[in-house]
Amino acid sequence: DQWQADSQLLLENVTVGYQDSDNPALTIQHLALQGYQKVGIIGRSGSGKSTLLNLLGGFLAPTNQVGQKIMLDGQVVDHLQLQAWQKQFQYIPQTPYIFHATLAENVAFYAPDASETAIIEALAAAGLADFWQELPQGLATLIGEGGQAVSGGQAQRIALARAFLTPERRVLLFDEPTAHLDIETEMNIKKAIVPLFDNHLVLFATHRLHWVNQMDYILVVEDGKIVEQGTPKQL
Ligand code: ATP
Ligand code: MG
Repeated sequence: DQWQADSQLLLENVTVGYQDSDNPALTIQHLALQGYQKVGIIGRSGSGKSTLLNLLGGFLAPTNQVGQKIMLDGQVVDHLQLQAWQKQFQYIPQTPYIFHATLAENVAFYAPDASETAIIEALAAAGLADFWQELPQGLATLIGEGGQAVSGGQAQRIALARAFLTPERRVLLFDEPTAHLDIETEMNIKKAIVPLFDNHLVLFATHRLHWVNQMDYILVVEDGKIVEQGTPKQL
């Protein structure tokens, strides 16, 4: 059930909106992405990048139930089967959610069978080796609401550590995963993120040129629409 070089993610006629707005935040007539493409999503603030990733992560449903289609490797994916859906996609959000649970439970949230060794490796890969060793109860420290506070950058690295534990997910969705980090930390963590791209379809929203340079296909989002797409050379 691995993602293959000819596997395809297909969206047809999909509209997404938010309750408090009349206009759709995102409309996609046709989008086909394939194989191990590394797809950069660029566009101004408010253009719809996060909305696209939220949709694919299963956190927003298409507004139009009729006539829309989202297919992954020839199979329809459907918000009515959210658990199955979310096993296909690893979503690293712009502002990750930290559960009120131990650090270990937070990291292994999508991989509850992960060994302690694997959790420690994932934390190290995400640049959190010192962080967890300095916590009062180490991996067993309660974090999140009411527990030990974590900064925005630490939360992002915890979300990255989660992704390191679920390499079997087929599509990786990154929403500015290093936005809260200083440049030195970002560059260190980038070294751990880039190898994760192998054998996956990657969608990566970013404002930063050095990330765009890692991508081999670009979607330009403007006003809730994909207005341009192609290889960096074509654009
Ligand atoms: P940024 O670069 O700032 O992250 P973005 O391209 O990710 O921006 P989105 O977050 O997808 O932009 O927002 C697209 C549109 O949807 C904007 O007009 C925004 O105001 C609206 N929007 C986003 N989230 C919500 C929400 N939770 N409720 C209502 N409207 C929202
Ligand atoms: Mg965004």
